[in-house]
Amino acid sequence: MEKRPFDQLGLSADLLKAVAKMGFEEASPIQTAVIPTILAGRDVVGQSSTGSGKTAAFAIPAIERVDPKIRAVQVLILCPTRELAVQVAEEAGKLALFKRGVMGVPIYGGQSYERQFRALAAGSQVVIGTPGRVMDHMERGTLKLDQLKLVILDETDRMLDMGFRDDIEHILKAVPATRQLLFFSATIPRAIQDLISRYSKDPAWIKIESVAQNAPQVEQTYFEVDRRSKIEALTRLIDVNDFRYGIIFCSTKIMVDDLDEHLHSRGYMTDRLHGDISQTQRDRVMGKFRERKFEFLVATDVAARGLDVDDLEVVFNFDLPNDAEDYTHRIGRTGRAGRKGQAFTFVSGQEIYKLQSMVRWARLDIRRGKVPSLDEVEEARTSVFFEKIRSTLEAKTFKPHDRMIDRLLDQGYASTDICSALIHMLQGSGGGAPSGAGKSAPASAPTSFNPPGAAQHKPAPAWAKAAVTKAQTQAPAAEAGVTDQGAPPVADDGGDDEDFPSGKKSKYERPARTGREPGMVPIFINVGRKQLITPADVVGKIAGVTRLPATIVGAIDIHQRHTLADVAEEHVGTVLAKLTGIRIKGVEVAPTLAQAETP
Ligand code: ADP
Ligand code: MG
Repeated sequence: MEKRPFDQLGLSADLLKAVAKMGFEEASPIQTAVIPTILAGRDVVGQSSTGSGKTAAFAIPAIERVDPKIRAVQVLILCPTRELAVQVAEEAGKLALFKRGVMGVPIYGGQSYERQFRALAAGSQVVIGTPGRVMDHMERGTLKLDQLKLVILDETDRMLDMGFRDDIEHILKAVPATRQLLFFSATIPRAIQDLISRYSKDPAWIKIESVAQNAPQVEQTYFEVDRRSKIEALTRLIDVNDFRYGIIFCSTKIMVDDLDEHLHSRGYMTDRLHGDISQTQRDRVMGKFRERKFEFLVATDVAARGLDVDDLEVVFNFDLPNDAEDYTHRIGRTGRAGRKGQAFTFVSGQEIYKLQSMVRWARLDIRRGKVPSLDEVEEARTSVFFEKIRSTLEAKTFKPHDRMIDRLLDQGYASTDICSALIHMLQGSGGGAPSGAGKSAPASAPTSFNPPGAAQHKPAPAWAKAAVTKAQTQAPAAEAGVTDQGAPPVADDGGDDEDFPSGKKSKYERPARTGREPGMVPIFINVGRKQLITPADVVGKIAGVTRLPATIVGAIDIHQRHTLADVAEEHVGTVLAKLTGIRIKGVEVAPTLAQAETP
């Protein structure tokens, strides 16, 4: 597909400067094809895959067409979600940086009308909004569209999926007949064809074939995995590849919660997104994820829609997506901007046929992979650990402890034995992978992906000439409590159990109850052996619901009808509060502080 330099597309110096400042070297195929067509005034139907640069494809000509002297809305961009509206507004803000007198505002539900009204009243020419809120403002008379030149529907397929059809039609009927109308979508199903034929005038259809263009950037692999072994397979793949930044897609909210809790209790830094999570919380999670405050986002398709992250190392399809379209959407989040990404897909049982039909339909280039064995995981962890020791030695970032070492040598211990003993201690109970090389141990600090000072959370401001740079530096201080994601090591029992795929044991097993560690208090949980509860369930639930590290849980003693679990004293209040009312093994939990037995 053809790509051209931006300066061959008929753009003004202001826009060229902005594009250069954003680091775009040349226009993507959809941009190359669409920008001159829009500038020429034609209606356009633009179709290309996720990540192909559609936002700039419409935002660049839209900003070109704004007359800064007219202080009225000239461009209306409709987006399916608040996140997307904010992202589009941010990108448009950057593109308008050097064009004086152009203002834009995102408007969406959940934010005060007042604030949006002020930005509109101030003369914003570009409005980026969700259909519902746009309609509200039209009805209130706070959004006037009589000067509108351009209406853009971004992610039209998603908007229709989300039930915005009536709102969209209502808006399209209310705008001046002279407006230019642009549809952007990854797919053009029948409902969109209807809209196009009803509201567009002789549109230019521009379709960029996606698969061929996108596929080489994403290495796609599938694994045939037994349903019960998915979590084990997932963690092995993460460990062997030493992934640190990715999204894990699940098909249901329950699965998201469950997997998030499991991973969290195994010491991975995770968080979750799904439809039941409040908007404020969602924004926080997305903000944190963009800033790499945690490693893996566990999400449903709907929740992750419109989340714009560029440089994921990996996308996991923990559950097979519904169709090839969703699949492409999901994996399009990795391997962007020329970097190679990985997409790992799990299929169990009959799902292999579904995958095969997706492969045929979308001509996916996906190969079969093998889940790494425990030995391979071990080897990978060991080599990470080895690297870490080597680089510490190289960088000399340690204090000498000559005296202690001399004393040991004096007592006749060999230096190799001393080192082995230290490594053994770092590994915890010994035998298995060095926990220091695992995902979560404090010893992994040198390669921490969480750079200090990256704790900035961008608000979603209206942008204006002055506001653009200001809004980006004026971020509120880092939210407290971010570090609570840093989970310390989970006991690893040695890992010589080649028990995959049943692989359910290990990891979670905890020492039997032998006297209480200091600082721990026992809590009573009304679920026991009768409900087939395991220590893993207890640790997983507690770590999951509190989002505290699994190490706050000490010994666990499972009785016929109840369980006693030691919990770090300072967290016992949180644990009791968060655990109350949730379900474990189908039983509603009513935890209480247990009478401390004298050890
Ligand atoms: P789409 O809407 O088609 O899914 P986006 O507009 O969100 O894609 O763009 C995906 C990513 O590519 C964004 O991070 C964007 O900044 C970047 N991008 C867009 N155009 C270019 C370009 N010409 N050169 C380099 N990166 C680009
Ligand atoms: Mg887009």
